[in-house]
Amino acid sequence: LAQPCHENEPILPKMPPFDYTPPPYTGPSADEILAKRQQFLSPAVCHFFKNPLNLVDGKMQYLFDEKGRRYLDAFGGIATVSCGHCHPEVVDAIVNQTKRLQHSTILYLNPVIADFAEALASKFPGDLKVVFFTNSGTEANELALMMARLYTGCHDVVSVRNGYHGNASGTMGATAQSSYKFNVVQTGVHHAQNPDQYRGVFGSDGLKYAKDVDDIITYGTSGRVAAFIAEAIQGVGGILELAPGYLPAVYSTIRKAGGLCIADEVQSGFARTGSHFWGFEAHGVVPDIVTMAKGIGNGIPLGAVITTPDIAKVLTHRTYFNTYGGNPVCTAAGLAVLNIIEKEKLQQNAFTVGSYLKQRLTSLKDKYEIIGDVRGRGLMLGVELVMDRELKTPAKAEILHIMEQMKDMGILIGKGGFFGNVFRITPPLCFTKEDADFLVDAMDFALSKM
Ligand code: PLP
Repeated sequence: LAQPCHENEPILPKMPPFDYTPPPYTGPSADEILAKRQQFLSPAVCHFFKNPLNLVDGKMQYLFDEKGRRYLDAFGGIATVSCGHCHPEVVDAIVNQTKRLQHSTILYLNPVIADFAEALASKFPGDLKVVFFTNSGTEANELALMMARLYTGCHDVVSVRNGYHGNASGTMGATAQSSYKFNVVQTGVHHAQNPDQYRGVFGSDGLKYAKDVDDIITYGTSGRVAAFIAEAIQGVGGILELAPGYLPAVYSTIRKAGGLCIADEVQSGFARTGSHFWGFEAHGVVPDIVTMAKGIGNGIPLGAVITTPDIAKVLTHRTYFNTYGGNPVCTAAGLAVLNIIEKEKLQQNAFTVGSYLKQRLTSLKDKYEIIGDVRGRGLMLGVELVMDRELKTPAKAEILHIMEQMKDMGILIGKGGFFGNVFRITPPLCFTKEDADFLVDAMDFALSKM
């Protein structure tokens, strides 16, 4: 990338120093891995860059490719690496537990699983006390939907358009974006209008959007429903915060119709939003069931559902069984994550650094017309690119171009939203103010070259 030609153009920013050198890499090259991947792995999307990256090491907020080149990870493994890549205390917890006992099913007693369940429950308000462990967010949401259906004896579920809840058949039903829906049977799910403050017809009037849930129950169901499921901030959907007032109104409507309220905290949980430990807390509601994954294990496959003792009873006389759910190695990692978040004040850091980053990104919006919206909370931020602010035409090609430029400057950033035109910034929660400056300066530089 060339240095600027004019005095008032931004200069090529420098990555903050970081005292770590990864061990030498002697494995296959990126091209060799790509060839194997094309032959032997599922034809899933590779990350957007022209040349896919071969990432072989990680340390806190940084990733390293096979040549030892350092990248600032502003996507956090899709909002998953909560404490930092290979955080030493998470690594120790995993290694120590692996040496002692790698696997034990829920059929036996094990101290780590019990300790983690207790520690997790202490993070929740109200009567949310009983934990079920799964391996992923999809499984957690599948279980939550099934519990709600068993508890209420109803089948109908309401989810929010543009939301993402997973990719098994039940959760794919609740997911409401065509690109994530396949042609499989997804019965009994109704998708309510999205309380999207940027593109939605009612702006920030949460109560007007909530009326749609009323209408769905009145016209699309028997009048009784099993559940409502929503993310507090839509992650895959482009870091969209639900309009204020929406959740309390919908929770009340759903409860009147006999349903349970499920908060999908897979992305917005574990202190990511900074102001609160859970995303739903910012809306002043207490759900009946909460689902978690991603940040819970700093990248280790782990998911969980928490609910009240009364709702949990629906599984007492049935065999709900999950071979790896609550695996001691994963729950040991989970326990370490909770301790680190507290000890290293990561929630406060997400709040302070996130607020600073959001303010800097908002200033960038004043400078570049292409930035239509800056939104989100803590270290869960979105920047939506549009061709013109009036029509909000998604800038789809431009975002790819800027991502590529930022990668060349050493920053990995996410992308999403219904139109794929939103930067998703969800770094590890140890992200610093210097990292925030570097990210904004790099975005500024890339935008100035467009
Ligand atoms: N719920 C939300 C909000 C998510 O963002 C995701 C994944 O991106 C899921 C559920 C599914 O989680 P997993 O990919 O672990 O199955």
